[in-house]
Amino acid sequence: MTLREVMGRAREVLTAASIDDAALESEMLLRYVLNLSRVELFQQLNTALTPGQEQAFAGLVARRLSREPTAYITGHREFYGLDFYVDRRVLIPRPETELLVEKAIALAEGNPIAVIADVGTGSGAIAVSLAVNLPGAKIYATDIAADALDVARLNCRKHGVAGQIGLLEGDLLDPLPRPVDIIVANLPYVRKSDLAQVNTIDFEPKIALDGGADGLDKLRCLCQQVPGKLRHGGHILLEIGQGQGEAISMLLHRLFPFAGVEVTPDLAGIDRVVAVTLTVPVFSSSPSASL
Ligand code: GLN
Repeated sequence: MTLREVMGRAREVLTAASIDDAALESEMLLRYVLNLSRVELFQQLNTALTPGQEQAFAGLVARRLSREPTAYITGHREFYGLDFYVDRRVLIPRPETELLVEKAIALAEGNPIAVIADVGTGSGAIAVSLAVNLPGAKIYATDIAADALDVARLNCRKHGVAGQIGLLEGDLLDPLPRPVDIIVANLPYVRKSDLAQVNTIDFEPKIALDGGADGLDKLRCLCQQVPGKLRHGGHILLEIGQGQGEAISMLLHRLFPFAGVEVTPDLAGIDRVVAVTLTVPVFSSSPSASL
C-alpha cells in the first residue's frame, strides 16, 4: 500500500474509535515510523511502504487505539513553537499552558535579568520556553520527581539552555537557593473526582494531575511557601482549571491582602491563569521569616 493509502486507513480506524484529529494523528505516526519531515511525507504519498514498514505502522496505530497518547508513542510534543522530548515520566505539555508562558515573558520583558522559578517543571517545557525567549533570565526549575527532572534535563540540552536553567529536586519552592522575581507554576489541579475524565489518565503520571478534593491542594502549599522566596514587587503566575478562578482568588486575597490578583481565561473561555502582583513584602505567620 502507498503512504496515502495507509494514512487514509489509519484515519478511518482512529475516527471510528472517536480519536480527535485522526487525520493529523495518523500523519504524525506515519512520519515517525518512516522518519520523514512533513514536506517529505507529502512528496512521497504515492510511494509504497515495505511490508516491514506497514507492520511497524500498524503496531503504532494499535497503540494509539489503546489510547496511548501520540506524544508518548513518538516521544515528541510541540509547545510554544519548540519540539520537546516526552515520555511517561512527565505530563504532556498542553497548548493552553502557552498562555502562562506568554504572560511570564510579558512580565519579564521589563526586567531582562529576571530570576524566574518554574515550579513542578515536569518535561521542562515552560522553563525551556522561557529560557529560549528570555536569554538574559536565570531560571530555576523544580520538581519533586527525580525522573521528571531527567526528562527536563534532556530538553534543556536539546534546546541549548542547560546553562541558563538550574534543575532542583524538591517540594515546590523548598529547593530555591534565593528569592526570585517571578514564580510560574502549572501544578496538578484536577479535582480527584474528575481524574477519571482526563482521557490520558491511564498513561500520564497521576502525581502531575491530582490536585486533591478541590484541585487546589498543591497551589495552596505553594502559596504558603512564598514568604522568603519571592522578591518585593514580584509576581506569581499559576495555571488553574475550569471553575477554580474564584476559589483561588479568595485564597490569594486572604494570604496576600495587598496583592493584585487577576484571572485570565484561555481561548476556550476557561479560567486558566491567575496572576498575583505583590506590591508590598509578604510576611509568613512568623514575622522573623519575612522577606
Ligand atoms: N489541563 C490539564 C488537563 O485537564 C491538567 C493539567 C494540570 O493539572 N496541571 O488534562
